[in-house]
Amino acid sequence: MKKSAGIAAALVLAAGLTVYATVPLGFARGGQDHKKEGYQDTPLIPGQKWKVHDSERPVPAVVTPGEHYGAPPSDAVVLFDGKDLSKWKGPKGEAHWKVADGYVEETKGGDLQTIDSWGDFQLHIEWASPAEVKGGSQGRGNSGVFLHGRYEIQVLDSYENPTYADGQASAIYGQWPPLVNAARKPGEWQTYDIVFHAAHFKDGQVEKLATVTVFHNGILTQEKKEILGPTQHRQAPKESAYDGKGPIRLQDHGNPTRFRNIWIRPIKGYDGE
Ligand code: MG
Repeated sequence: MKKSAGIAAALVLAAGLTVYATVPLGFARGGQDHKKEGYQDTPLIPGQKWKVHDSERPVPAVVTPGEHYGAPPSDAVVLFDGKDLSKWKGPKGEAHWKVADGYVEETKGGDLQTIDSWGDFQLHIEWASPAEVKGGSQGRGNSGVFLHGRYEIQVLDSYENPTYADGQASAIYGQWPPLVNAARKPGEWQTYDIVFHAAHFKDGQVEKLATVTVFHNGILTQEKKEILGPTQHRQAPKESAYDGKGPIRLQDHGNPTRFRNIWIRPIKGYDGE
């Protein structure tokens, strides 16, 4: 940061601690008052069309973070706010899962999926497996978050619940176990933060597989991992061409898993492109 262009703002906290933050002049929130700080006599950044500190480079859009961890930021599409399922549908049309006390509960009669579709996105979703433990292995708190309705990020009560590795919570089911088991206890709310990039196809052939990054309860469990194809049970996955967009689908696996605070942000390119 160019120091001469900054002003120092001092925030005196109640504890007597002084924190200094520098705010560059000409970069008002919102970016509309951007005064083209920067340079035009600098070299190109290798591999980019922009110069180093390029004054013509678009200023990133301002997004206001949520008030607390997990709260939707200002540009998120809120899919479920704890009250209504108007953005969702079931196999027969209507969204049939039970809504109560700020959550929606997995209900028999099929999966629940969004009406809309997305390409690349960031997804936040919170879930809780049943507080009363019933069953074991894959029969205990099983649900799932299907990306594009095709690829399952497993939801399972993985707290002291032995099961196969690629079927644990936050596994890319049947393909990749999570890096670590970050499960909370049954009945406790847990979070997934998921970054998904869709597969690319050319002439009906796979050009690039989809990738996914997952944070389970804030802990990295999948890191830009290639997804080998639509989720299978006891079979090898194989990717096949589609239009590269799809819904979020929540699995009905017969266990009353709960979900809340679901939001999504389509991922846009750098420099507004
Ligand atoms: Mg599942």
